[in-house]
Amino acid sequence: KQQDSTMMIEAHELLKKFYHHLLVNTKEGEHALDYLLNRGFSMEEIEKFEIGFALDSWDFASKFLVQRGFKQEMMEKAGLIIKKESDGSYFDRFRNRIMFPIWDHQGKTIAFSGRVLETNTREPKYLNSPETIIFNKSKTLYNFHNARPFMRKNEQVVLFEGFMDVISANRADIPYSIATMGTSLTEEQAKMIRRNVESVTICYDGDSAGIEATVRAAAILKDIGCYVKVASMPEGLDPDDYVKKYGPEHFKGDVIGASLTLMAFKMRYFRKGKNLQDEGEKIKYIQLVLNEIGKLDNAVEKDHYLRTLSNEFSISLDALKEQHEQINKSLQNKKDNDDRNRNNIPRKPLLA
Ligand code: ATP
Ligand code: MN
Ligand code: MN
Ligand code: MN
Repeated sequence: KQQDSTMMIEAHELLKKFYHHLLVNTKEGEHALDYLLNRGFSMEEIEKFEIGFALDSWDFASKFLVQRGFKQEMMEKAGLIIKKESDGSYFDRFRNRIMFPIWDHQGKTIAFSGRVLETNTREPKYLNSPETIIFNKSKTLYNFHNARPFMRKNEQVVLFEGFMDVISANRADIPYSIATMGTSLTEEQAKMIRRNVESVTICYDGDSAGIEATVRAAAILKDIGCYVKVASMPEGLDPDDYVKKYGPEHFKGDVIGASLTLMAFKMRYFRKGKNLQDEGEKIKYIQLVLNEIGKLDNAVEKDHYLRTLSNEFSISLDALKEQHEQINKSLQNKKDNDDRNRNNIPRKPLLA
């Protein structure tokens, strides 16, 4: 098993160098290199992130690996090649894609993500390695090994959705940048983060999926003891788009620098599309915010946001507190009920 892992990593390392060579030194890689340069990548970044190109071929990687003595069965288990059901022959998983190596926390290459050059084809935009004995998606964070020393030094980390965003953030002088691997943040990933820093800034895409994912990730991070801030994107842009459109300095200053506390972010979110001049909508908004305040476990924070609401809407603090107590009580009742229901689950007799 240990031997298998070592071999699989070795294969990834070799293939990574070969992909990179194809991108930067060959005619076949030229259009992929042009694509990256047009997107604003520098050669330095292509080196640093070890980006490569997989040829438009069914077997060049598989041949390359066999020539170097790797067994096809094992390369299949490593997710690099795929076995054809019909005749048992093998073909390359990654074809005609720009290849981003995925590293483990030590910087060893354990997987790839490949991007098509043109979207809107039938092919998915990104193709990732499957889970293998060396690649556990839920325990992997893109760029973690590069970012870790900067996370510790700056006592913070910025969490992105995609690795394109991480690369752009590096351009914006934010080397303490990481991304999940195309899934929502897991508890394991949150633990990896918390072992190194307390302060986390979430900077997801500016679409509804990004906003929902922000709320979910924030809850997980808070639970594990992180202090969470949110850097939000203008509607329809992701961090990488923003850097391209407004420049790296503006990204660092106006987006990351203008991060909101989690509560302020939620308040702004609840406000969206509401006319607070309208009595009904205003009350709805206040209810939503009171609900969130109810979930806080810090009395000072609670008091602070109650006062903020009170000032903003000229409502007496007492009235807000009373309402807040009621919400708390109903939250507590709900919790008691849930607990009771959980405990009342009829148990199967030991000997049925
Ligand atoms: P680009 O700027 O090249 O379009 P992106 O980083 O903006 O890429 P998103 O669509 O925002 O891409 O997706 C964010 C992340 O989700 C990607 O980095 C990738 O890890 C993952 N992802 C997106 N699409 C897919 C897919 N079809 N299959 C697997 N993972 C995907
Ligand atoms: Mn997205
Ligand atoms: Mn995106
Ligand atoms: Mn993007």
